[in-house]
Amino acid sequence: MSDQVYQDAITRVRRIGESAGVNHEVIEALMHPMRTMVASLPVRMDNGSTQYFTAYRCRYNNALGPTKGGIRYHPDVNLEEVQALALWMTIKCAVVGLPYGGGKGGITVDPKQLSRMELERLSRSYVRQMADVISPDRDIPAPDVYTNERIMGWMMDEYEYITRKKAPGVITGKPLSLGGSVGRDDATGRGAYLCILELEKKHNWKPEEITVAVQGFGNGGYHAARLLQERGYKIVAISDSKGGIYSSNGFDVPSIYKEKQATRQVKAVYCTHSVCEQVEHTAITNEELLELDVDILIPAALDGVIGGHNIDDIKAKYIVEVANGPVLSDVDDTLHSKGIHVIPDVLANAGGVTVSYFEWVQNRSGYAWDLPTVHERLEKIMSESFNRIWDLAQSEGRSMRNAAYTHAMRKIGEAIEAHGTQD
Ligand code: GLU
Repeated sequence: MSDQVYQDAITRVRRIGESAGVNHEVIEALMHPMRTMVASLPVRMDNGSTQYFTAYRCRYNNALGPTKGGIRYHPDVNLEEVQALALWMTIKCAVVGLPYGGGKGGITVDPKQLSRMELERLSRSYVRQMADVISPDRDIPAPDVYTNERIMGWMMDEYEYITRKKAPGVITGKPLSLGGSVGRDDATGRGAYLCILELEKKHNWKPEEITVAVQGFGNGGYHAARLLQERGYKIVAISDSKGGIYSSNGFDVPSIYKEKQATRQVKAVYCTHSVCEQVEHTAITNEELLELDVDILIPAALDGVIGGHNIDDIKAKYIVEVANGPVLSDVDDTLHSKGIHVIPDVLANAGGVTVSYFEWVQNRSGYAWDLPTVHERLEKIMSESFNRIWDLAQSEGRSMRNAAYTHAMRKIGEAIEAHGTQD
């Protein structure tokens, strides 16, 4: 993630806001993160030494409700990235109509280098530093890149220890045994899948004729690929951070996932795996995957992978952003003029935060929903949101991203206006 990412994020907000005639006070409010905390987390390592890790939590804007957003563990986490991600959460929650503002957190760390105990101490330390900020009514974290339900469980436990009360609604994406929701694990991929189903209806696609390339095989990418394949879509390319594989015949997604769990690599496992050996394939790089001539490209890894450096080589007809920020703002117009349709992150990956919202509602009411209820309500929100943005894009001649941002800014604007001024 480049240091320019925050500039890129606010430039996009300003450009779209001005073109849509959004009140300049609303645009201005979105240029300024409300509050960002930076902390040094001392962690006792297994060898007895103490190591310090830099941690962030940004509450970007709370006009629509308590701030909401994940915590990322990655060596490249920095202030700009956290603020950009928090801004995108602000837009995302407004796009799908959740009663939340946007926030985000992160720790600059390579979690793969830590033991399980070190990871737990780091996670608890994060909560100790941020306990004044997070709360079920103020700021509600969740998982993001390289964090998971186990980490959310530790964090909730630490928060409850500090506050001396049960507070499951302080964090979402928890294990089921601690008040997590059924359906949260695949919600991000399922949300993207539901967006693609809406496209399918609009274009009368036959799934078996549609080719899909997925960059990134984490939680979002895997479940999107799995659900699409179950429906008949042809998953012709898959990658992870080490590289990818391509087959014009398509892959069996669960087999590759199983092998990746065992050996941690899509590329290496592929060559040894019996199911894959039956399929003619080639190894490809992550860059090559992005340039494949496919119907749907799903960037589901990190941000900034499509930009000026490769825009001329992008051949996909649709880009469905499961990662946050995979397309840089300076190529928005080029993609639009090339006729490449982008289903933006703030819509395509909003299934995750939507089921987080369901989890929070269940925690607050003390009543757990069953899986069909979660799926039905997610489907309703995703389909209504998709069509609201689609209709706005059609009626105002905007791209889907432009329409999503415009809708979100109007909603945030209404809330800012309704709050009144306090100065
Ligand atoms: N990290 C996810 C996102 O970027 C989920 C956030 C949440 O559930 O609060 O949307």
